[in-house]
Amino acid sequence: MEEYRIAVIPGDGIGPEVMDEAVRTLNAAAKKDGTFSFHFDTFPWGCEYYLKNGEMMPADALDTLKAYDAILLGAVGFPGVPDHISLRDLLLKIRHGFDEYINVRPVKLLPGAPCPLAGAKPEDIDMIFIRENSEGEYYGTGSWLYRDTPQEVVIQDSVFSRKGCERVIRYAFDLARKEKKSLTSISKGNALNYSMVFWDQIFEEVGKDYPDVEKKHLLVDAASMFMVKDPKRFGIVVTSNLFGDILTDLGAAISGGMGLAAGANLNPDRTFPSMFEPIHGSAPDIAGQGIANPLASVWSAAQLLEFLGHKDQADRALEAIATLLREHRDLTPDMGGTASTSECGKAIEALMLA
Ligand code: ATP
Repeated sequence: MEEYRIAVIPGDGIGPEVMDEAVRTLNAAAKKDGTFSFHFDTFPWGCEYYLKNGEMMPADALDTLKAYDAILLGAVGFPGVPDHISLRDLLLKIRHGFDEYINVRPVKLLPGAPCPLAGAKPEDIDMIFIRENSEGEYYGTGSWLYRDTPQEVVIQDSVFSRKGCERVIRYAFDLARKEKKSLTSISKGNALNYSMVFWDQIFEEVGKDYPDVEKKHLLVDAASMFMVKDPKRFGIVVTSNLFGDILTDLGAAISGGMGLAAGANLNPDRTFPSMFEPIHGSAPDIAGQGIANPLASVWSAAQLLEFLGHKDQADRALEAIATLLREHRDLTPDMGGTASTSECGKAIEALMLA
């Protein structure tokens, strides 16, 4: 029997609460399937660890994580620890260190999920965002000159390499071909006259290898407007790190809210472990109350199952989420229900084992 070794980083706030339900989902999938199992090791890294040790995770954390088949992340962030530290020193370190250059974020309105768009039907909102995840606007280089003087200047670099752009655009084209959907590239070449003109050029170049895929192109401002006014024009979407970050929060808002949105940080070459997470933060306002919605975390567990080659079990997890929404049962308060985090997770488990 195949055993997958999973590194679990529950993190802060509601992270540990929703993580328990992701683990429960994976164990249910393994039990139902019977041909594989999971071994989980938990690492107590995050903001609490930072407040005690002065670092978000130990210096050799990547060496430790390298040995695993995949990483599950809950959420990081806590009042008192600056956001740029909690983000850069854990999440971004892992994304960069393990060359997780693809971020996959499904934006799919399941029947029964709340949607703020008037008249929108589930078939209108069914897209997959492929966000560049290793460079772009989040590369993290720049300068801070004349600090604390009246001449103060900051420069934040964006890094767009040919290799970096080509590989994410090619991944998106391959997915569009496989899913038989259009591919929309979102950029901003009219204002960002180096980085985004280059991105657009590479989209054109790579697109020549995919004559069968319908290609679309939008400026990011127009794309945000169309996601609200006419979301059904989007199938597969490819965009830069920053634009993808912003637009997928908008995507979460139109497809059920933060409690349902998952994201996979993939190293498709499988040279390092990939990492799976709900895209919401640590939500300190509701932490410790047992009312956090675990469905985003369950969805990220489904992404992990699919990445490991168990698409049938991934589909079972998604179908379990869809069942709770359709039947409006065992949902947490953010979805209009009265269930606790673990009651919701156990309902998923029961459906998976049925
Ligand atoms: P960050 O600043 O790191 O993004 P955050 O938790 O403040 O963290 P969001 O993740 O955007 O920001 O969440 C905003 C709010 O949405 C939370 O404060 C919480 O009220 C609600 N929320 C987020 N995730 C969930 C969840 N899984 N279940 C229920 N409510 C949630």
